Order: sequence, then C-alpha cells, then structure tokens
Amino acid sequence: MSESATKEPAAQEELGTVVIGGGLAAAHCVHALREGGYAKPITLIASENEVPYERPPLSKEFLQGNKPAQELEPFPAGWYADAGVELRLGTTAESIDVAARQVTLRGSATVGYENLVIATGCRSRLGGRNANMDGWDLPGVYTLRSLEDSRKLKEQLVSGKNLVIIGAGWIGMEVAASARAAGVEVTVITPDGVPLATAMGTEFGAHVAQLHVANGVKCRFGTAVSGIGSDPRKGLVVQTPTGDVPADFVLLAIGAVPNNELAEAAGLEIGTGVVVDEHLRSSDPNILAIGDIAEAYNTTLGRAMRVEHWDNAIRQGKLAAATILGRDESYDWLPYFFTDQFDLGMEYVGDRAADDEVVVRGDMSAGEFIIFWLRHGVITAAMNVNIWDVNDHLRSMIGKNIPVSTLQDSDNELTAL
Ligand SMILES: Cc1cc2nc3c(=O)[nH]c(=O)nc-3n(C[C@H](O)[C@H](O)[C@H](O)COP(=O)(O)OP(=O)(O)OC[C@H]3O[C@@H](n4cnc5c(N)ncnc54)[C@H](O)[C@@H]3O)c2cc1C
Repeated sequence: MSESATKEPAAQEELGTVVIGGGLAAAHCVHALREGGYAKPITLIASENEVPYERPPLSKEFLQGNKPAQELEPFPAGWYADAGVELRLGTTAESIDVAARQVTLRGSATVGYENLVIATGCRSRLGGRNANMDGWDLPGVYTLRSLEDSRKLKEQLVSGKNLVIIGAGWIGMEVAASARAAGVEVTVITPDGVPLATAMGTEFGAHVAQLHVANGVKCRFGTAVSGIGSDPRKGLVVQTPTGDVPADFVLLAIGAVPNNELAEAAGLEIGTGVVVDEHLRSSDPNILAIGDIAEAYNTTLGRAMRVEHWDNAIRQGKLAAATILGRDESYDWLPYFFTDQFDLGMEYVGDRAADDEVVVRGDMSAGEFIIFWLRHGVITAAMNVNIWDVNDHLRSMIGKNIPVSTLQDSDNELTAL
C-alpha cells in the first residue's frame, strides 16, 4: 500500500458565512449571527484598513474634533476575534463565482461560502470612475466617505481658510456647519433653490438655508458648477456661469454611488442597487445584500427601495442574520434618519413623496417644530426638529388619517393623536 493511501482524507473545510464590506451593515450582520447562536465560520472581508465604524460622525463630531475614532466603532476591535469572526482588513473582494460559491480576493486567494452577504456600500460621486466634472481630481479637492477622508478634511479646517462646498445635500450642509465651527469661510454652491431640496422639499430647505446664512455660510443657490480649475495666482477656482469662486480647498458633496460592480459581474439582478426580496435574498438564494447597496422589498410600503441611512444599515445587518439563521423576519420598517447642523437637530421617519401636502406644527421661526407630510389626508412621513423623545409617536402616526387642524394644534398632545 502506498504512503498516500494510508493517510486520512483531508478534512473538508467547513463552509460558513462570508460578508463582503466591513461597514456598519456588515458589522451588525456578523454580530447578530453570533448573538443568534450561529456556530459556523464567519469571515468579514473589508477593503478599508479600519475596524468597522459608523460614518455619521465623519461630517459632524469627529470632523469637529469632538469624538475620537475609537468611539465610532459599533463593537470593540477585540470583539471580532473573541467571537470567532475572521476579520480580514485591507482586503478587497474582486469577484464572486456563484456556481463554485467562492469569492476571489485581490491577490487571488479564494474563500468558499455557504451564505454570502454583500455589504459594499457606496462611494462618493465623482470619485474615480464617476468623473464627469473637470478638475475633480485636482489637489485640494476632497470627497467625504471614509474615516481617512474625514481625517484629511479635518486637517484643512483651519480658521480663516476658504472652503467651497459643491452640493447642498446632507453631507455638504453638515460639513458647512462643522467648518464654520472651526472658523473656516464657507461657500455652498448648488443648482437647487434651497439645500436638501430633493430629500426634504422647499419648506424645510428654506429653514436650513436661513440657519446657515445666519451662521455666516455664503449660499450660492440656483448656480450650477461647470468645473474646477487651478490658477497659479488664485489657487483653486470653482467655475460657474456667473464667475469663478476662489477656494483654498473644495468639497465635492454631490451624492453617492452604490458599489454594485461585484454583484453585477456575478450576474445578480441589479436595479438601483442589488435587488433583494423582503428577507434580503438576491436573485441567487445563497447571496444576500444589505445596507446602502440593497434595493430591498419593503412589505409595509409594498415596494422596493434603496435607503442610504445609518438606521437601515443596522437593521438590515440584523435582518440578514435572521434570514441566515432560518427565522421568518421581513423588511417591514419605515426609513428613519437624523442630522445635526449648528443648533438644529432633527429626526425623520416615513416615506414622503415630493408632491405630498406639508403641514407644520409649531413655529418654524422659533426653531422647534414638527413637519407632517400627507397624501390624500393620510400621514406619509413626519420630522421632529429640536423637539425630542417624540419620534416613536410620530412613527406610530404614519398611515393615519388625522385632520390637518388637529395636527397643527399644539394643544393636542401627540400621544393622544
Ligand atoms: C459623511 C457621512 C455622514 C453620514 N451621516 C448620516 C447621518 O447623519 N444619518 C444617517 O442616517 N446616515 C448618515 N450617513 C449614511 C450612513 O453612514 C450609511 O447609510 C451607512 O454607513 C451604510 O452602511 P453600509 O455598511 O451599507 O455601507 P458603508 O458604511 O459604506 O460600508 C461599506 C464598506 O464596504 C467596503 N467595500 C466596498 N467594496 C468592497 C469590496 N469589493 N471588498 C471589500 N470591501 C469593500 C467599503 O470600503 C466600505 O468600508 C452618513 C454617511 C456619510 C459618508
């Protein structure tokens, strides 16, 4: 008998769950798997060289120097090893072989899976392949997506410097507030008439614009940027039809693009993101997608949607774990998000449409109010601004038909409504 014939057959490597991402959704998925008693191997593949962290403070407390990086971690760095999660930082997944159930990593190593979760999130628009604005790659032009981006931007926040922000969405307006707190001169340029126009409509947008102007932000609304140039004497210039705006540094904050490519190349169904059902399973039942990347079917709203918010990343991470653990849970919650800018803090819940009726409760000029959005008399969304501990009540009011006069009358307790 030959030597090889006497050997024990090599033990088959046990397959488990592989998560590609390393952001908030991925972290909550692996955490919920272990909390739920999942005993098979878990591998977390993360491009960034950072233990998973939360991004909201990158434009707020961290950027302002009020929160250290360690406090952004949803789970302590040591938790992953203690829980038997193989955390492969600085590792990029390059392709997925759905037939072989295998992920190939940069450098050609492979990892087999029983279940695969894609949580690759978004990247800033105009980074790399999305370039469609001249000058986006000049030195001194920044985008903000990662901890590393925020560290670089923070170094530039020196009193008296001149920052031009292109884009007046959440990240643009939050950075404007953080930069003003550091004494930076800030100009915000957007083709829209008010900030946050697409996300929140004109009423709240006008309120945010007033707040920023009152805090010294120069607003150039209704102005389209055609490109960014560099002048040997003037430095950076942001080019607009009404003239150049000089800048010491520029932030491009014109949205995010989902990192779909890996899933697309694997042949998964793609819509605005990776298309998944209410259990977050993609067109391949062994592959789930979660967080910013997932276009998921919401059973409460009766339609598919892709949501780029913190709360959704956490909840979908947990839901993917539930699906893998064989529990019959569904994507049934309403979108929720928050922001902090100057002395304004707000929370939004629901699913407003651009042409929904707007009903304000309270005095917007006093800075403390609630906005309801209604469609055919039914509440579709609500937002509390500088009024706290009411968001759960607002959430429970979505879908109800309450007369406008009743909503507006602050003497009617929300709890009673
Ligand atoms: C500056 C900023 C401020 C924000 N503020 C708020 C806020 O105030 N409120 C709110 O509700 N939401 C906010 N958000 C949105 C919120 O942070 C996101 O919705 C959330 O981070 C999404 O989590 P995710 O895990 O899906 O994706 P991400 O957090 O983007 O993580 C995806 C990770 O996958 C990695 N990756 C991508 N491709 C690969 C690959 N091939 N291999 C391995 N790894 C890969 C990426 O490098 C990244 O680390 C903010 C976002 C930013 C950027």
